[in-house]
Amino acid sequence: MKDSSIVYLENVSKIYATAKGTFHAVQNVTLDVQPGEFYSLLGSSGSGKTTTLRLIGGFEIPEYGQVWIGGENVTTLPPYQRNVHTVFQSYALFPHLTVAQNIAYPLTIAKVAKAEIGPRVAEALRMFRIEELGDRRPAQLSGGQQQRVALARALISRPKVLLLDEPLSALDAKIREEVRQELRDLQRQTNLTFIYVTHDQEEALALSDRIAVMHNGQVEQVGSPKDIYDRPASLFVAQFIGKANFLKGKVQSQQDSMFEVEVAGQFIRAIAPDHQPSIGETVTLMIRPEQVSLMLQEANLGPETCENRISGKVNTTTYIGQLLQIQVETAIGAMMVTQISGTEPNGPVTLSWPAKHCIVLPPTQLS
Ligand code: ADP
Ligand code: MG
Repeated sequence: MKDSSIVYLENVSKIYATAKGTFHAVQNVTLDVQPGEFYSLLGSSGSGKTTTLRLIGGFEIPEYGQVWIGGENVTTLPPYQRNVHTVFQSYALFPHLTVAQNIAYPLTIAKVAKAEIGPRVAEALRMFRIEELGDRRPAQLSGGQQQRVALARALISRPKVLLLDEPLSALDAKIREEVRQELRDLQRQTNLTFIYVTHDQEEALALSDRIAVMHNGQVEQVGSPKDIYDRPASLFVAQFIGKANFLKGKVQSQQDSMFEVEVAGQFIRAIAPDHQPSIGETVTLMIRPEQVSLMLQEANLGPETCENRISGKVNTTTYIGQLLQIQVETAIGAMMVTQISGTEPNGPVTLSWPAKHCIVLPPTQLS
């Protein structure tokens, strides 16, 4: 792993001394990032994302564990001796330099020949579609333009790994989505490794090859966006990513990969893709609201063994653009259903959802 990964963190911990004693900002984190990956660190504020990125960039030295870049142990090397470049949240452009001079800066510092700098800056300006801005100063640019300059400057020295700390958080929604798409295209074209910090789950799901979900300085789960959404490894991840229904119940029986779970006197079929629940265990089931079908009460229901069914009554419907969010009261509690917007249902209904989309969550690990 150390050799084949472009970035490898091995049991890394960062401990700060605070007025109240020592504090683990990052605890026992192990990560492997493959060459060419778009890898995101996703978590709420304070979960340790920036600290992890700073450990990779060389701005912090861990108390425990090791950092490997390109097969080399760089744990105690300073930032400039690592083949990585960091783009900070605040862009950190030089206000007194022009856009072209800002972008050229890393090459100037590295004493690259003048004859080479010009064409490389021109190419970077073209790549980010800011050719006409070369002579302006940062204060004369919009947020989206400043961000493009910061990215162009980061990429001009052709680092193996680009570290990005919430690079889009200062942009407004429309520009953010635009730059997000550019970033993804750019990463695909250049095949560089991106390690991308964000607290925005939608952004992480849209951009990443893999996501590490962080919580309290630890990694809760690493997986593709689909893995994490469909098969969350913990209740925390299930609650953090997307919306879901959670049902508490007791495992009654198992047949092959199918579990029967008693929830408030009803029997619900579910699967447990990543662990083995035992009979009699109290568990939490997760069902994504878009996996639940809603039928009017009169719908003719044939026998169906892989489906869960329950009758209920529409409580509220909320129109959210293309989607309709419907809350239904049932014998097992309130269930949330999302549908493509259309006629708003009301009154008695029947809900159904397949067992394969009804997940028994793994028990919470105490740390
Ligand atoms: P995130 O980027 O996920 O918001 P950070 O990595 O910045 O989280 O911080 C993780 C935790 O470590 C936070 O509780 C933060 O207050 C704490 N922390 C970060 N830097 C320091 C520091 N230099 N001294 C003490 N505590 C710190
Ligand atoms: Mg941060």
